[in-house]
Amino acid sequence: MPAPSARPLRPAIFVDRDGVLIEHRDDYILEPAHIKVYQESIAACLRITLESPYALVVVTNQSAIGRGILTMEQAEALNQGALKPYEEAGVRIDGAYMCPHRPDENCDCRKPQPGMLRRAAAELGLDLKRSFLVGDNLSDMGAARAAGAKGVMVRTGLGSRHLRWAGFDGLVADDLADAVARILSGEWS
Ligand SMILES: [Zn+2]
Repeated sequence: MPAPSARPLRPAIFVDRDGVLIEHRDDYILEPAHIKVYQESIAACLRITLESPYALVVVTNQSAIGRGILTMEQAEALNQGALKPYEEAGVRIDGAYMCPHRPDENCDCRKPQPGMLRRAAAELGLDLKRSFLVGDNLSDMGAARAAGAKGVMVRTGLGSRHLRWAGFDGLVADDLADAVARILSGEWS
């Protein structure tokens, strides 16, 4: 039985970074000049902060670290640079998780594995069953499913390409703003 002081679990909107918060790049994001923020996504995240009970958590695969292309420190700095315009606009980011591993390391955090979502849930007190993961990659949808959350595929970034390849039958939105509007409307709850 939880202690009386235990806070109730919150639902979260997990968001992938590249292709959702900032523009996707076919090569790695390696320097600040590669970061192109989607202004519409800043407005969407502000809605999460101001109008919703959802925590906002960023979950991103960054295998450039495991491949030795970026140090952890460089990757952290780039990540902070990507999120800074959000925070400056007043967005509250409750957590930001990065998987540094290569696919062949078979870690439990690289999406489509659910490790980052589970870790965030434990650290931030999140209810994964009432949570969403918005991403532009089928690996995001796999991670959502494996964690027991709902995946929302957007058409930005790699999304329209991935949607053409696969017979994806899950939730689809045009972009993060559309996804947030529909999540907050209760349409997918
Ligand atoms: Zn990992």
